[in-house]
Amino acid sequence: MKVITHIEALREYLNSVRKNDKSVGFVPTMGALHEGHLTLVRKSVKKNDLTVCSIYVNPAQFNDPGDLEKYPRSLQSDCLMLEEAGCNVVFAPDTSEVYPGKTVTSLSFGYLEDVLEGKFRPGHFKGVGLIVSKLFHMVQPHRAYFGQKDYQQFAIIQKLTRDLDFPVELVRVPIVREEDGLAMSSRNMRLSSAERAVAPVFYEALKKAEKMLLENADVAAVQQAICDMIRQKEGAALEYFAIADPETLMPVSNETVGSQVVLCVAGYVGNIRLIDNLIVSL
Ligand code: AMP
Repeated sequence: MKVITHIEALREYLNSVRKNDKSVGFVPTMGALHEGHLTLVRKSVKKNDLTVCSIYVNPAQFNDPGDLEKYPRSLQSDCLMLEEAGCNVVFAPDTSEVYPGKTVTSLSFGYLEDVLEGKFRPGHFKGVGLIVSKLFHMVQPHRAYFGQKDYQQFAIIQKLTRDLDFPVELVRVPIVREEDGLAMSSRNMRLSSAERAVAPVFYEALKKAEKMLLENADVAAVQQAICDMIRQKEGAALEYFAIADPETLMPVSNETVGSQVVLCVAGYVGNIRLIDNLIVSL
């Protein structure tokens, strides 16, 4: 497995790979890898001749400087895990390489960036859109793998890819969870053991909402019951719970609910922010 830190070296290497008609799969990450990331990598390894995984903590997508500073970094152990998963190239650039000057280009995603995560993390998706665009230009993959864990992120990248005609096939990979249902996240390693015991509440809330909806409960009643459930859980703080249209991400009501909804939740355990979601077919 090659570890490359410079864009020019990456381009040169991948150009020669593409010239030989080899397909390139790409998994963008911020490192501190876990089984969720490795599942994406394994999917890529299975389907493509060569798999590139990027590890870069992108400052442009952090609206909270404290969160950026505390984001876990573990390049060495990440590389060991990636090698074992069959990854061929790790691209781990420095910020001076990715953002050599001040960026003035900015992407807008309309209402898609204003709802759910966008409401609580202003500017986050502009930062995500920018880094994914830059990485797509650097890697020029045939396929790129993203997790459903970041449901709204996938929706936005899908729009970005279509709007800007990136010749990349996007693959959305289901959420990988711990045994108790907690969605795997690099942030989980920052939870104390007491906080770790509280963290599954978000998945439990999603499952309860799913059950209620499948039993034909009123959408507003589900909304209320789930918000109450999380608010009553000691140690957890709710940011939002939404029953949304899977395409538009707009909250649905009894009148507008379709055959499928996505349940999205975000909140804190201690000072660790966690997100989760569940797609429900009604
Ligand atoms: P991150 O390093 O958090 O930016 O995540 C990199 C990629 O891994 C994103 O596409 C995430 O959606 C995906 N990912 C993170 N956690 C999980 C998980 N538990 N299950 C599936 N995909 C995940």
